[in-house]
Amino acid sequence: MRKIKISESTEEIVVGNIFCIGRNYAEHAKEMQSDVPVNPMIFLKPSSSIISDGDKIIFPKISKLLHHEVELVVAIGKTAKHIPANQAKNHILGYAVGLDMTLRDLQNEAKKQGAPWTVAKGFTTSAPVSEIILAEKIKNPHDLTITCKVNGVIRQNGSTSEMIFKIDKLIEYISSIFTLEAGDLIFTGTPVGVGEVKPGDIVEAELIGYTKISHPVIAA
Ligand code: MG
Repeated sequence: MRKIKISESTEEIVVGNIFCIGRNYAEHAKEMQSDVPVNPMIFLKPSSSIISDGDKIIFPKISKLLHHEVELVVAIGKTAKHIPANQAKNHILGYAVGLDMTLRDLQNEAKKQGAPWTVAKGFTTSAPVSEIILAEKIKNPHDLTITCKVNGVIRQNGSTSEMIFKIDKLIEYISSIFTLEAGDLIFTGTPVGVGEVKPGDIVEAELIGYTKISHPVIAA
């Protein structure tokens, strides 16, 4: 499902490109035994990996280790290239909570080989995303709490104030390389506490005070 609803509206957006940022929280970089990058680290997911609240996360047979990563997602509302940080706000339609579902065993193997992360990060159902909260409803996107629960137990509880590269800088950097189009999403990285999910589990992600999603995990 490539369409995402806008909260308190009948409108939807059609999702285009999905840019994802790796290691954007220092404590998470540490738990991955990775250095904090000098520039934002970017990877992509295909738009067909999007699912909506209630949809199943399908654990593909090629992996034995599926991880949750809760993230603040930025939805772009206006197409441009070379957006300066001080103009970034004008290009944001709104915010959502998402899960960057990751096949950690395949990602670790790819890291070792210097191979791309596309399979580990972009498989079908790897991108659960909530409805979009319009930007005007959120005073400060760097003062939000995002959480992930598995079977009702809290696993991740992070503040977007802890992002290494802030949203305006991410937009500036991404748009210096790629064209950022209306309908594109940016997954802004995950706070500490990533962990395993198994078939039969229920994964919930919440943007506290705004919106949440809940997804059963099933075997392929
Ligand atoms: Mg991530």
